[in-house]
Amino acid sequence: MELIRSIYGKDSIPLHRPIFDGNERQYLVECIDSNFVSSVGAKVTEFEQQIVRFTGAHFAIATVNGTAALHIALQLAGVGREDEVISQALTFIATCNALSYTGAHPVFVDVDRDTMGMSPEALNRFLAKHAEKRDGAVWNKSSGRRIAACVPMHTFGFPCRIEEIHAICSEWAIPLVEDAAESLGSYVGGRHTGTFGLFGTLSFNGNKIITTGGGGMIITNDESQARRAKHITTTAKIPHPYEFVHDEIGYNYRLPNLNAALGCAQMERLPWMLEVKREIAERYRAFFSDHGVQMSEPRPGSTANNWLNAIILADKAERDAFLSYTNERGVMTRPIWRLMSRLEMFKHCQHDGLENSRWLEDRVVNIPSSVPEKNLNT
Ligand SMILES: *Cc1c(COP(=O)(O)O)cnc(C)c1O
Repeated sequence: MELIRSIYGKDSIPLHRPIFDGNERQYLVECIDSNFVSSVGAKVTEFEQQIVRFTGAHFAIATVNGTAALHIALQLAGVGREDEVISQALTFIATCNALSYTGAHPVFVDVDRDTMGMSPEALNRFLAKHAEKRDGAVWNKSSGRRIAACVPMHTFGFPCRIEEIHAICSEWAIPLVEDAAESLGSYVGGRHTGTFGLFGTLSFNGNKIITTGGGGMIITNDESQARRAKHITTTAKIPHPYEFVHDEIGYNYRLPNLNAALGCAQMERLPWMLEVKREIAERYRAFFSDHGVQMSEPRPGSTANNWLNAIILADKAERDAFLSYTNERGVMTRPIWRLMSRLEMFKHCQHDGLENSRWLEDRVVNIPSSVPEKNLNT
């Protein structure tokens, strides 16, 4: 508690709060003065270009939120009704919601203990046991459904073994879509998370590392897919100076210019935020290692954005004691998500033993991880 108080001060401390100490106000006013506040406007394109430069992805398409980005990425990857998508049970609900919107069903494989993201071994084992290639597609022999995509997630910004998952998906010819909602600023080698698969998706919700209020982004290196993504997220309207003609069922998923204005300002501050967050993670790490508490760290060869720090307590009893002790004293901490495979909507879905997922579910707690007030320019 003393360490947390020394970083964040005396008031009640949230898990993660946004900071707006750059050009946010100025860009918002510019936006309002320009009259372009909705989904057409210069800031949207500018924000997309900033994401392209930062991640190294060739194309970026801004959306109203991360869930919408993932929904469209999956649809464009070819996921449809009664298909199956392999994902992880240890994730935020948005992953499974998005894939359900396509009419597909999730199946869950286990995560690695160190990354808390999809385990390539578990994926391999699942495919070897249940999958077969037939008629140019991959089928689940147990359910009879087509396996249409694989969606790993980079939990709390710790990169999963995405290069191995990519190799497995390539071998099976299963489209790979990375849920990189939590991992803006996280890398494997020098390569940004979200750029390994056919698509990666980002989120700029209020609790994420940078925020646009609400917002998301599809990133891809595939030019024709990028064009499709832009088209379908903007009501599939055929460009014309005044006529309204649409050539398929599209979505009103484009990020409004007002939100993009926030995004442009936030992106300018991202390198600095990453630096501050790295220092906080190091202070936590030194403290918890002195006290014999395990703390998540990026696997060798990868860099985490330190979005949310996570400690791993001895067991469920210790976790519960820690949660009530801290929350009762105004320091917000929270357990990792309830496994998707235990939720009413998904409990009938096929899964493997989920040993590591269950182990982590009982032990992982997130601790306050914002950029502290005293680091701000205000
Ligand atoms: C935040 C998040 C999303 C997307 O959330 P939105 O609130 O729709 O932007 C998707 N997946 C994960 C794992 C997330 O944490």
